[in-house]
Amino acid sequence: MKAITIALLFFIAMTPQAKPIAIVVHGGAGRIDRDALTPERERLYHATLEQSLRAGHTILKRGGSALDAVEAAIVIMEDAPVFNAGRGAVFTAEGKNELDASIMDGRALQAGAVGGVTTVKNPIRAARAVMEKSPHVLFTNQGAEKFASDNGLEIVDPKYFFTERRWKQIQKWLKQQEATAKPQATAEPDRHADYFGTVGCVALDAKGNIAAGTSTGGMTGKRFGRIGDSPIIGAGTYADNRTAGISCTGHGEYFIRHAVAHDISARIAYIKESLAKAATDVVHTVLKQAGGSGGIIGIDAQGNVVMEFNTNAMTRGSIDTTGNLKTAIFK
Ligand code: ASP
Repeated sequence: MKAITIALLFFIAMTPQAKPIAIVVHGGAGRIDRDALTPERERLYHATLEQSLRAGHTILKRGGSALDAVEAAIVIMEDAPVFNAGRGAVFTAEGKNELDASIMDGRALQAGAVGGVTTVKNPIRAARAVMEKSPHVLFTNQGAEKFASDNGLEIVDPKYFFTERRWKQIQKWLKQQEATAKPQATAEPDRHADYFGTVGCVALDAKGNIAAGTSTGGMTGKRFGRIGDSPIIGAGTYADNRTAGISCTGHGEYFIRHAVAHDISARIAYIKESLAKAATDVVHTVLKQAGGSGGIIGIDAQGNVVMEFNTNAMTRGSIDTTGNLKTAIFK
């Protein structure tokens, strides 16, 4: 009997344990008016988040890379008009769609990003091409567009990004701007009310590699040429196999000033905070005190998943290391 037990224990010890895999996505943090959210839109959020998670997770389950999973998950959200990324992006004050994206590979801290593109169908693919096919990290505007087209990525007419909903939003925003310019007006236009929808993904693959990516149309009414945190490595996106992968969403200027994605990774590396503690502190204390609204998603080297936000909503979802899928919008 004893011999059998010993043999069994030996067998268990020698069997390679499946390495954890996990994936988390967000579709933007901001203020959503619960009563104004139609059941149809709510259903669309959940369905697209789930589709995106499953696409990434299928790749991870087959032994594919975290990078491939992140790209696949983000492409689905870029193609869905419900999110502020790719098709469905918000408009600038001039009535254009200018898109930003970045991706990072936590294996060797490789990264790629594009800013201010107007013709690249899937900016996340362009970000990846920058990382893999150039010695650089960030390309902007026509340079990024030329690079994307030279590398065979799909180029579209800028009209492709137009959606009626976002067009109405910019018209409303411009009116609010006009109103606040008048001396009697007091209300500041709230840039984040209902105007959110940036997308992001973090994945951990079976080889222990972490990747993170973020893609956005930026903020409604942004000035021509404004670049937010999403394509800034260390601000909107960061990944390091030794610590965690992070993708952010929110009022980008604050995320840049506080180097949010890197700050979370650095806390894990330098003062050994857990991902949960680092994310909570940065989102609810550092950012909140500064006046920065938004949220983050992350996965650490052990596969722990976080989804933290200081707004009333962040469309989000994850498939954790046990295979449990969930999607959510409100707190
Ligand atoms: N962070 C994005 C930006 O500032 C916007 C967002 O996440 O909603 O461009």
